[in-house]
Amino acid sequence: MREGIHPEYHQTTVTCNCGNTFVTGSTKAEIHVEVCSKCHSFYTGQQKVARADGRIDKFNKKYGVK
Ligand SMILES: [Zn+2]
Repeated sequence: MREGIHPEYHQTTVTCNCGNTFVTGSTKAEIHVEVCSKCHSFYTGQQKVARADGRIDKFNKKYGVK
């Protein structure tokens, strides 16, 4: 790769709306995100799955499904 034809790549602090910050590599000086790995719906999604499982268990017990 030749020097000078690529944008500068450096460490950037990413700030999330939830207050979490983490460092990543980017050409931008600063990044603001609305969701991160700590507040992403993946986490709340896991909770929904757990609740759904509970409902399925009740359904299975009620109708004798094994
Ligand atoms: Zn976040």
